[in-house]
Amino acid sequence: MKPKRKLKEAFNQYLYDSSIDLKDRSFVLFSASVLMALYIAIPCGLIMGEPLYATISTAAGSVVFSIYVYFAYRNKKIRQARVVISVFLVFFFLPAMFFTNGGVFSGAPIWMLLGSFYMILILDGKFRIVMSILNALVLTACWILGYIFPEYVVSYAREGAFFDSLAALFIVMFVLVSHAVFQTRLYKQQSELSEEKTREVEEMNKAQSRFFSSMSHEIRTPINTVLGLNEIILRQEDISEEVRKDSKNIQGAGRMLLSLINDILDVSKIEAGKMDIVPVDYNVSSLLSEIVNMIWLKADEKGLKFNVDVDPNVPEVLFGDEVRIKQILINLLNNAVKYTKEGSLSLHLECDIKNEDAVLLKISVSDTGMGIKQEALPHLFDTFKRVDEHKNRYIEGTGLGLSIVKQLVELMDGSITVNSVYGEGTTFLVSLNQGISSEKKVGDISITGAGKEGKTEKFEHSFHAPDARILIVDDNEMNLSVEEKLLLGTEMKVDLSVSGADALVKTLQNRYDVIFMDHLMPEMDGIECFEKIRSQQGGLNRNVPIIALTANAGSENIELYNNTGFDGYLVKPVSGLLLEEMLLRHLPKEKVISSGGHEMTGQTISTAGAYVRKRPVAIATSSMSDLPTDVVKELGIGIIPYKVITDEGVFFDNYDIDSEELVTYMGNEMRFTTSEPPTEEELIRFFAAELKKAHHLIYITLTTGSSREYGRALKAAKSFENVTVFNSECLSSSTGMLVLAAVRMAQQNQTPD
Ligand code: ADP
Repeated sequence: MKPKRKLKEAFNQYLYDSSIDLKDRSFVLFSASVLMALYIAIPCGLIMGEPLYATISTAAGSVVFSIYVYFAYRNKKIRQARVVISVFLVFFFLPAMFFTNGGVFSGAPIWMLLGSFYMILILDGKFRIVMSILNALVLTACWILGYIFPEYVVSYAREGAFFDSLAALFIVMFVLVSHAVFQTRLYKQQSELSEEKTREVEEMNKAQSRFFSSMSHEIRTPINTVLGLNEIILRQEDISEEVRKDSKNIQGAGRMLLSLINDILDVSKIEAGKMDIVPVDYNVSSLLSEIVNMIWLKADEKGLKFNVDVDPNVPEVLFGDEVRIKQILINLLNNAVKYTKEGSLSLHLECDIKNEDAVLLKISVSDTGMGIKQEALPHLFDTFKRVDEHKNRYIEGTGLGLSIVKQLVELMDGSITVNSVYGEGTTFLVSLNQGISSEKKVGDISITGAGKEGKTEKFEHSFHAPDARILIVDDNEMNLSVEEKLLLGTEMKVDLSVSGADALVKTLQNRYDVIFMDHLMPEMDGIECFEKIRSQQGGLNRNVPIIALTANAGSENIELYNNTGFDGYLVKPVSGLLLEEMLLRHLPKEKVISSGGHEMTGQTISTAGAYVRKRPVAIATSSMSDLPTDVVKELGIGIIPYKVITDEGVFFDNYDIDSEELVTYMGNEMRFTTSEPPTEEELIRFFAAELKKAHHLIYITLTTGSSREYGRALKAAKSFENVTVFNSECLSSSTGMLVLAAVRMAQQNQTPD
């Protein structure tokens, strides 16, 4: 390659190398173009009769400038060169040029303008500001000195001045144009680069999504086999106690593994910003029945009572992400069971209708379990954080559940708070905005518990249907075999297909009552197979219920199955109970003989029976506030007693002792010792009890800010996110009055019609 071409290529490569600082590249371009211009200007000056010393000094300056730029470039000292050259320009070169090349009446002002522009372009930070100010001062000084002492300015003859300024004009124009061309090309290069980056990020996002869903799919498929085969072992009557125990352990570990995988995938999805909220119409009663049934079994196994009370005014069909709401509730309720040794857990659900299309769902999950220490509360929702690890070391868990719950709630623009009394119990409160999709209200939902599975030694199917015939389509033969075995005792005829193509042959030959269809299969997937069955020429199953039976979990897939027209969906790993429940819904009634195997335990929860609407705000105070009884009653104010300590014993004010007795004691100093405000622990317990009736609690002490009661109440309130404490000093201020007015309004609003 010719040296000139080589140099040009190296120069271009340098200019458009985005890994090099833009200012360095501008400096090299600018210096090169200025030098080129100067070398052209030198012979022109000679031809036009410029004084010889001026030409020599310009030539010498240009040579020194070239050598310096070359060495700076070679030794990678461009940054330093930028500083040196701008200092040289401002303090030496440009003023010298002004005085030796004709002052104002020459090309010097144009050069000076270029110098200023050059400096702004190659310098940065504070140094640029300082140099720009100095440059302005030097320029002004040149002009003033040139004006006052014209004798120091070497001036040109008229033609010389015209020629010099014209030459400067062209040279500067050349430099500026070459820079503009560079900037335009650079801009184009940058925008191409950023487009490429955006494409890369989009590709990466797609790959990540594919990874998440295929991970979930690939793991669920073998777990389906493990849990399914294990269920078949558990159903056998003649297995030894040891095998049954081992099998139960496999079941527990399998479920744990599944929930762990789900949690890890959820956390990664949330962190990658890939967790989408997919709202659908969902039936509140079905959602609650499903969850309650699941938790009921677990609570029952631990001997815990499970209370469910639901506002009968909650709309029957809501619009929201059903899958994620279920996940939140199951997580909180599972924790309530896990961390409670005895007593009960409660699910309370109510709503505020905001307008005809929107409702605020308020869900509270409480338990009488071990509670959470005050100092642990701020870290409760951290990922991988398990609190009170010493006490919890025998309770399975990863510390991911609550962090996922919180992030899901936030993704739905909702809120979650926690109140806990260590050793007494915990309450989680979740508020979520949901759409209303039906005017009908849920009313009193009657949920009957399915209790037999897993409890009875002898397994019985919930129905028999010897005349029914179903088809299961799945490319995984192990899964097919498990599903077939799970349904063996129902006496149905179960046909199996390992591919969509095989299924289409069978649907031409046989009429089925129900078809279970896997989604991801090679060659023809479940969606395509579904569509082909629905429109199959001469097909016998065009209107038969088709259920998606898939390892593809996640709201987006459920939406896909709904939109495609599937009659239902089951997510693997699937249990015999779920398969039978789904079949019972879709098999023709005349073919089903109910055998009562999975029949409900007979125990029924009525959700509206014990339901009492929580007040928005409650007020509480201590017995020493001496509020009149009718005010206490009218506003439902909770009162915590002071202790009156006398020589005769300790009495709870207003309970053991009334005000007249108290006056008597006070009158007789011998018998009256002292009165003691409630302790912090008593206040915590009192707040927790009051919060069962209201969403927010305002505790007012009619004492000063330095009183013991106020100090203890403030400390106690730290265990709760929704307790506010005021003392009499606050109340004398306008804030206090506003609070009282708000409380009154809130309480009036909630009084029953
Ligand atoms: P884990 O898998 O450990 O249960 P979570 O994120 O669900 O993880 O909960 C984090 C920690 O919060 C738990 O380890 C436990 O210490 C505490 N916790 C959660 N719910 C309750 C509850 N209802 N009662 C007492 N402690 C709880």
